Amino acid sequence: MEQNKTSKFMSLLRKYGYWVLLGVSLAVLITVITLVATRNAPLQDDDPFEPVDNAVIEFSSPLTVTNVIKDYSNSALQYSSTLRLWQTHKAIDFAAEEGTEVMAVLDGTITEVTYNYLMGNIVKLDVGNGMIVVYASLSNDIPVKEGDTVTKGTVIGYVSNTAKTEVNDGPHLHLEVLLDDEKVDPNLYLDLAEK
Ligand SMILES: [Zn+2]
Repeated sequence: MEQNKTSKFMSLLRKYGYWVLLGVSLAVLITVITLVATRNAPLQDDDPFEPVDNAVIEFSSPLTVTNVIKDYSNSALQYSSTLRLWQTHKAIDFAAEEGTEVMAVLDGTITEVTYNYLMGNIVKLDVGNGMIVVYASLSNDIPVKEGDTVTKGTVIGYVSNTAKTEVNDGPHLHLEVLLDDEKVDPNLYLDLAEK
């Protein structure tokens, strides 16, 4: 009886085995193709470096009059008369009189109000989309505090000369833009020619 069953199975296998094998092979092939296709699919718009997302971000001017004394440089070295060395400057410095109002470039939330010996009084403004605007070399008088929500144009500080590493440049605003913790060129979002 048992032997009979086995030989019946063997004869079935001989008859249909090829088709079963072909079916399994096809299933494996389709699975592999699907996996590869899914993995190589283009990233959705949650990619923070998607240029289209950033193109719509437009800052208003941080100062009424913008007088750039040191521009952003990612690789080109600029001479620092304070430190007496050549270095990159991943920020824009705007000269202005002591006490000149400094404004929020976008709506956002104040996430940090600190003092740092190197960069002076600092205000950090979170404007969403992983972007933080850093204002440095401000005066001791800071009209905002951590947690405040501000709108474009709100005065968030006053120009001074508190950044010790840039003290020879005189009173100025040192403006940085962080995108996902990386310093990026503020010129990408500022239209200074318009001002
Ligand atoms: Zn600077």
